[in-house]
Amino acid sequence: MAGKLAVIGAGLMGSGIAQVSAQAGWEVVLRDVTEEALSRGRDGIEKSWARFVAKERMTAQDAEQALARITTTTDLDAVADADLVVEAVFEKIEVKREIFATLDSLVGEGTVLASNTSAIPITKIAAATSRPERVVGTHFFSPVPMMSLCELVRGLKTSDETLATARAFAESVGKTCVVVNRDVAGFVTTRLISALVVEAVKLYESGVASAEDIDTACRLGFGHAMGPLATADLTGVDILLHAADNIYAESRDEKFAPPEVMRRMVDAGDIGRKSGQGFYEH
Ligand code: NAD
Repeated sequence: MAGKLAVIGAGLMGSGIAQVSAQAGWEVVLRDVTEEALSRGRDGIEKSWARFVAKERMTAQDAEQALARITTTTDLDAVADADLVVEAVFEKIEVKREIFATLDSLVGEGTVLASNTSAIPITKIAAATSRPERVVGTHFFSPVPMMSLCELVRGLKTSDETLATARAFAESVGKTCVVVNRDVAGFVTTRLISALVVEAVKLYESGVASAEDIDTACRLGFGHAMGPLATADLTGVDILLHAADNIYAESRDEKFAPPEVMRRMVDAGDIGRKSGQGFYEH
């Protein structure tokens, strides 16, 4: 499967999605609000391909041809003839709803609108359109060119046909899909990591084991590539606190209630690798 793809948002995720799609033969229109954001996105893609070429994972000619398949624009009208749209703007529901409402009036009736949201219920985004059955979640992981998972999320009204289109797209760009049949807060992946991190922090906070030992237990006992506290430092303690807070607010399930120490760490600015201090010193 390939055709014309529009990607809204040229940040970390949008540029990654544009990159893998162009590489797979899609004609990509990448849209952001500023030229600076677009050129940052384009630079990132070019640098990533240069590394692939240096490692002989791709030829220079393939990289050049893929780059030629990407058009960047600040003009939203340029996405009007897309076969599929993937939105990857800031994780703000009002921004996403506004974009989906505009896209709804802009693109063809049959066009599927996908969101890369990591936590916002697809049903809430879909409700901003007149085509909720054609709205779906395509949750890619970062860095997109390296991570092979795509979590497909059904909103309450997402049709089987739309889900099949999203799957065909994700598979065409080399991803393996898992399907989330009900768009519960946090979907499957964020729910799992939140539950694990919350329990790991509770064990750490209550002195049951050190951060190192909790992480070693998960790595050597369960074969995880990285322990939950090291993962929290990498992702950002603030990001995981926000995720767990959201899931707890929607589910009222105590296992997602973030321990106080996570909140105090965020208050103090100890949010992990980004700040130099989290559960570990970096
Ligand atoms: P980012 O901040 O890197 O990029 C967001 C981009 O959206 C920016 O370039 C911004 O200028 C642009 N933007 C804002 N409003 C816009 C508009 N109206 N039209 C076009 N562009 C607009 O964000 P990101 O990390 O790429 O995340 C994007 C989405 O992907 C979010 O929903 C996020 O939750 C989700 N996500 C992120 C990750 C991650 O690890 N960063 C992983 C999975 C999913």
